[in-house]
Amino acid sequence: MKLATKLIHAGAEPDPSTGAVMTPIYQTSTFVQTAPGQHQGYEYARSQNPTRFALERAFAEIENGKYGLAFSSGVAATDAVIKLLQPGDEVIAASDMYGGTYRLFTKVFEKFGIKFHYVNMQQADNIVPFINSNTKLVWTETPTNPLMSIVDIAAIAAITQKHSILLCVDNTFASPYLQNPLDLGADIVMHSATKYLGGHSDVIQGALMMNDTALRDQLYFIQKSCGAVPGPQDCFLVLRGIKTLHLRMQRHCENGEQVARYLRNHPKVGKVYWCGFEDHPNYHIAKKQMRDFGGMLSFELKDTSIEAANKVLSSTRIFALAESLGGVESLINHPATMTHASIPREERLKNGLSDCLIRLSVGVEDVEDLIADLEQAIG
Ligand SMILES: *Cc1c(COP(=O)(O)O)cnc(C)c1O
Repeated sequence: MKLATKLIHAGAEPDPSTGAVMTPIYQTSTFVQTAPGQHQGYEYARSQNPTRFALERAFAEIENGKYGLAFSSGVAATDAVIKLLQPGDEVIAASDMYGGTYRLFTKVFEKFGIKFHYVNMQQADNIVPFINSNTKLVWTETPTNPLMSIVDIAAIAAITQKHSILLCVDNTFASPYLQNPLDLGADIVMHSATKYLGGHSDVIQGALMMNDTALRDQLYFIQKSCGAVPGPQDCFLVLRGIKTLHLRMQRHCENGEQVARYLRNHPKVGKVYWCGFEDHPNYHIAKKQMRDFGGMLSFELKDTSIEAANKVLSSTRIFALAESLGGVESLINHPATMTHASIPREERLKNGLSDCLIRLSVGVEDVEDLIADLEQAIG
């Protein structure tokens, strides 16, 4: 099946008991047994829930994976992956990534004896010097949040496969509409389903997709043992969101491109970070592994004072000043004080994330209104 058909039908079978076309919300914590151990495959909803199972089948299909697992948030999904490891194990992680992932690694898992190396992965070979016999996992994100750097997934996968290291790709920014890391050699794909998969800014959820059965069994064991499962209502919302992913993403991409080009031509705007510009350092890789360039971008004003950035951040009327991304409505965000505040300032600056960087999640509104809004805010 082609992507649009898959997105609409993935995981959804008419409900066998009533014929309901939409997956029912099985709002139940437990399931009756006719005799001890005699049940219909459902015992207790932390371990099994039919609404969640439908969503997990959909997760697998949309990333061309065999298995999907749903979690109560994106960071809970990340947390489950790191729980595959043991004290003494080492992880190579991208230096430019979601602030909450960095916080989880440094503030929670380092104290359990797991060591993290943060590496700029724009050149895949940069990870090689950090590989040793304790290295168990490479964690990367592409395009990165918020600097829109591109990592060559196939090139990283060639290295991790040679050394039998797991590769997990956070595919939140691209969504399965733009890129499928399992097809490029990744072992696990992670999503904050809160963003493009849900698509309507009304749910917090995470996802993992994979092909390997043993890996799926370990992650399912962690999911049910640690218990960060989403409720059935949230699963329903994400199932519903996925059905329109291709329609929304197409418009996000079209609007993103127009806003990026508008900003680049604006006399008051300095650098614009968007991976669809032909002079973006890894444009050729983006072109190779992505179907289009998405609706996320960041920019700096030529006036690099905090005051000038703050003026724009507080003057937009359609772009709402808020954390998060990937919903139908446009958002504007200040990474240094909002989404990436948990990364120490020196670390941020070292990775090129300035105090005056502004990030946009370009929504699916009429692009003329979006550009007019930025025009009046930048002034
Ligand atoms: C939001 C986000 C996360 C965390 O997901 P939550 O659903 O907020 O827990 C992880 N990675 C990226 C790239 C994100 O944007």
